[in-house]
Amino acid sequence: MPRKSSAQLPELYTIATLGSHSALQILKGAKDEGFHTLAVTTPQNESLYASFGFVDEVMVIPRYSDFPKVEKELNKRKIVLVPHGSFVAYLSLEQHKAMSTPYFGNKAVLDWEADRMRQREWLLKAGLKMPRQFTKASEIDRPVIVKLYGAQGGRGYLFVKNADDFHRRASHLVEQKYIMQEYVIGVPVYMHYFYSPLTGKLEIMSMDRRYESNVDSLGRIPSASQEGWDIQPSYVVIGNQPISLRESLLAEAFHMGEAVVRVSRELCGDRGLFGAFCLETIVTPEAEFYLMEISARIVAGTNLFIDGSPYSYLNYTEPMSTGRRIAREIKNALLSNSLSLVLDQSSKTTFEESNGKPLAGIPGPGVPAN
Ligand code: AMP
Ligand code: AMP
Repeated sequence: MPRKSSAQLPELYTIATLGSHSALQILKGAKDEGFHTLAVTTPQNESLYASFGFVDEVMVIPRYSDFPKVEKELNKRKIVLVPHGSFVAYLSLEQHKAMSTPYFGNKAVLDWEADRMRQREWLLKAGLKMPRQFTKASEIDRPVIVKLYGAQGGRGYLFVKNADDFHRRASHLVEQKYIMQEYVIGVPVYMHYFYSPLTGKLEIMSMDRRYESNVDSLGRIPSASQEGWDIQPSYVVIGNQPISLRESLLAEAFHMGEAVVRVSRELCGDRGLFGAFCLETIVTPEAEFYLMEISARIVAGTNLFIDGSPYSYLNYTEPMSTGRRIAREIKNALLSNSLSLVLDQSSKTTFEESNGKPLAGIPGPGVPAN
């Protein structure tokens, strides 16, 4: 049974999420928009989340993967769940889909995101450039990166110089699911978007570049000193750094986001991708964007911008993080009696409809997006 470390305020609408990844940003944003907030977390993290004033309630479960067990309890309340990377990391695709707690986003997109081949089909159909992909080791004719499936923060990725190198160092991976991609040298730029199903508008929220260990530190050792030392690059994400894109590249970044949303409607059912998402790119010296991956929800790189980013500042007069933008969309949906537009269809809502009137617990008029 989950333990609770603070009292409930059941008359309010609650935004809940797993206590990890970008939960602080999501819950701070939810509080700023007038919601009650709930973090579901592990014993080790209980005191951390409880220490923040904007976290109204902390529910403790033994492990993150136990989350589906508290669903019944959550479903008794007016809760909207905001998913982030830990839902993908700690729950299986099946568990994820089986949940009926009101869920911000479209789970139909998960099938297209989780399978790297389908994801590639999606991104290519949107007209985006992707690194060349190799299916057999014998085809490798340039340096490649071997990437395991699933959100693992780069863990276990291997840089492989050629086919011989693959046989020497990566052949043990045959049983696992992985892809081999041409290694693109350039700046990794992660672009954070928000697409509103209520207004039909796309916004660039912020951007980051990841800081990965040890690849981002290899330049600290001169190559002459690396000679004879068998250092292999690794890609484990440790943190994120802000970046602002050369403005002449911004239009292309925006069009890429639009194209991904448009094509998602053809592939993943008519509602397609909505809410927060991230295009993970490498930008070459020719200023070409190569897509490594799409993440169909809030990404941890947005944590840099809890107080807003240079891009969100252009659209809003108050600090607007991606977490807060999500809460605002849910709030606007509630206030315009269109909650179903922002929730997955598996969501079992027991909420009464508002008929356009402000709902109890959500103060003020709905502030329109943009
Ligand atoms: P965690 O709860 O920290 O284990 O993270 C859940 C998932 O999100 C894992 O797959 C992590 O690799 C990924 N993740 C966590 N923090 C970051 C970050 N700052 N940047 C990118 N991915 C992250
Ligand atoms: P991903 O899990 O696809 O987001 O990749 C994690 C990290 O691996 C990226 O931030 C890059 O540093 C590196 N990486 C992934 N794909 C490539 C690629 N095709 N070329 C070069 N580096 C890559």
